[in-house]
This record gives sequence, C-alpha cells and structure tokens, in this order.
Amino acid sequence: LNAVPKAISPTSGSSAYSPETARGDFPILSERVNGKPLVWLDNAATTHKPRQVIDRLSYFYEHENSNIHRAAHALAGRATDAYEEARETVRGFINAASADEIVFVRGTTEAINLVAASWGRRNIRAGDEILITWLEHHANIVPWKRLADETGAILRVAPVDDNGDIILDAYAKLLGPRTKLVSLTQVSNALGTVTPAQLMVAMAHAASARVLVDGAQSVSHMRTDVRALDADWFVFSGHKVFGPTGIGALYARANAIPEMDAYQSGGNMIADVTFERIQYQPAPAFFEAGTGNIADAVGLGAALKYLEAKGIEAVAAHEEHLIHHCVDRLSALPKVRIVGAPKHRAGVVSFVVDGMKTEEVGQALSKEGIAVRSGHHCAQPILRRFGLESSVRPSFALYNTTGDIDALIDVVRKL
Ligand code: PLP
Repeated sequence: LNAVPKAISPTSGSSAYSPETARGDFPILSERVNGKPLVWLDNAATTHKPRQVIDRLSYFYEHENSNIHRAAHALAGRATDAYEEARETVRGFINAASADEIVFVRGTTEAINLVAASWGRRNIRAGDEILITWLEHHANIVPWKRLADETGAILRVAPVDDNGDIILDAYAKLLGPRTKLVSLTQVSNALGTVTPAQLMVAMAHAASARVLVDGAQSVSHMRTDVRALDADWFVFSGHKVFGPTGIGALYARANAIPEMDAYQSGGNMIADVTFERIQYQPAPAFFEAGTGNIADAVGLGAALKYLEAKGIEAVAAHEEHLIHHCVDRLSALPKVRIVGAPKHRAGVVSFVVDGMKTEEVGQALSKEGIAVRSGHHCAQPILRRFGLESSVRPSFALYNTTGDIDALIDVVRKL
C-alpha cells in the first residue's frame, strides 16, 4: 500500500505555473486527430485525466478492489480506506466542516436530483416558490420545474442583463416569504459568467430560503470554500475536474441533513432491518444506498489532489490570461460576435460567426484537430435570452496554452 501512486506531480510546486509542464501529465493530449495535434478546448463538457488519476484507478483495481464496509477481510479494508480517504480529500478540497457532509453521487445532475427528491418533496408545498436564474444548465432547471409541477409550487427565474450578469435588484425583489429554495450556478456553462454566489446565498438566507450552488463549472477554475460560500448544498461532477466520469459529490451542510429524506433505499444505508421496522445509518451512508462507484471516487480524490498540487490560484491566474487572450483575439475578427460580456468570466467564451451555422464552425475546427462544443450546451434559456439557438464554445483548463487559442483563431479567421 505504500506504493499507492502519488497524486502530486514531481513537477508541481514551482512558483511559475507552466501549462506545458501540466500537458506532460495528460497522455491523451499527445493524440493526433485528422493528422493534426489534438487541441482540446471542450473542457466545459469534460476534462482529460492526468496520468496520476489513471494510475490511481489501475492501482485500485490491481491492489485494493473490493466492495466496501460489508465484508471484514483485508481487501475490504483497503477499499474502504481508499474510499473514505477520497471523501476526506473532497472535504478538504471544498473546505467542508466534516466528511459526513460529503455524499458521493454520479455527478452534478444526480446531486441536484437527489436534493429535489429528498429535500424538495418533503419541504416544498403548493404556493411555495423555487428561485433559479436565467443562467442555469438544464440540470438545474428541469428537476425544479418538475418538482414545482408535482407540488403546485411556482418556479421563479432571476433575470440577467445584456452582459449576461444577474440583475441583483431583480433577484432581491424575487426573494420573499414564499421563497423556500434558491438554486444557482457559480459559473455559467454557456457564457462563463461568474455569479456573485456568496452574496446571493446571503440574500437568500436573509429571506429564510435554503440554497443550492451548482459548482459544475467553477470547481476546476477557482478555489471552492463551502463554508465561506455558506450554501446549504454544493454540487459538482468529477469528470469536469480531471476525475473520472460517473462520480461527483454533493455537499450537504450538517444542519440541512435532518430535513432530507433518503434518496434511494437498500443496502449500505441501513443499520438494522426487520419486516416491521428499519433503522438507518446516518449521513453520508444514508444517501449512498447500494454499491457506489468506489474506484472512481478514489480516482476523484486523486484528481483533486493533482489540482491542489498544481495550485488552484496559479491555475486560475493562468486561465484568466487565456480568457483575455481569447476575448481579445475573437473581438478583433469581423463578423464574430461574443455572447455576453460578464464582469467576471471563467472557463468559457461563447461566440457566433455571422452568416455561418455553429455546427459548420465546429466541423471546420474539428477538421484541424480542434475540439470545441457547438450547440445549445444544455442551456437553452440563456442562449435564447441572447436571441440564439446555439453558439460555438471554446472552454479552457489548466493544460491549455495561448497557442491553442491562436490555432482556433486561425481557423475562424479563414472561415
Ligand atoms: N451544471 C452545469 C453548470 C454544467 O455545466 C453541467 C454540465 O455541463 C451540469 C450541471 C451537469 O453536469 P453532469 O452532466 O456532469 O451531471
């Protein structure tokens, strides 16, 4: 077990952040596509995995694989230790007070559905209001719309201005005695808007509402501190932060947990069962019925350690430079329109080219080995707010360089 692969890159820890060094950790970035070097600018959809994560997964299957908790034998102990260590890593990464507040889920979508089902069904009544924003991903719209339709609650939506920033006065007016829940994203996956989440959480709490913050697009770009944020729930997906697919985390603040019912039920979440009476385990096991995604939780732990070792502040500064470079260069191109101009942008720049379909732009880029997303990004309301059905969306991660952006600009300029 001493040979567990180190999550910390031997190259990390230097003060000058180097995306080129980081690239060396990601085997897939050496791929060629259509005879060209792969340029990966689709990080908002999913990120690639460093060698440290791939090795950690292999190590788990080669040395630790077992179901957890249930069987008292050596490998069960190793698997349980690895799984619980990953939970502790998530706790530290987001600065939660206790690992009991960290629930492993499939990803952001499942985490939001869990809260809608387990807290929402128990606490939302006819006439109550659920407040979201125009910036939300479908994953943070559909579960609330369905809950509202089921219960007779009302879904309210905080508007954005023409830059794509939340109109805080309008948000304040929408908060009231009927507001039971606010659910908002920290970063828009379509425009890159960084919302004033901490302020919005405080305003919601002042109105006695519970608050969920969707961190799917923020965790890889900025430091997460759930205690400073003060949200009741914070959710993210592992695959968008250099971890495996099919794993993510739900942070549920200790004082919100007693208001939540079980999500699914079965093994693992049970202390004792008779046909007459069931006694449950406390959280987080209470929300983790059945055999979870053990190996990928361990992989997520390795991914978060990797990002910590790179230095999240250094990564954020590097990415800010990339965003400025991208916005500057795109703005200089005639016939290119950048969607929105938020005060603070992270991870994503969305644009359209006059007279061209976004799919055509995406295909032209793909021919040159450049991967971006073109489409509606599962965020149709916010694109429609800007009169669009789709956009081209380059999105950045710690291994991107200004050279990647220049390669994109060359293709767009030719188009
Ligand atoms: N929320 C936001 C802001 C997202 O960008 C995404 C995915 O793109 C999701 C939620 C859903 O994440 P997942 O598909 O990993 O569950």
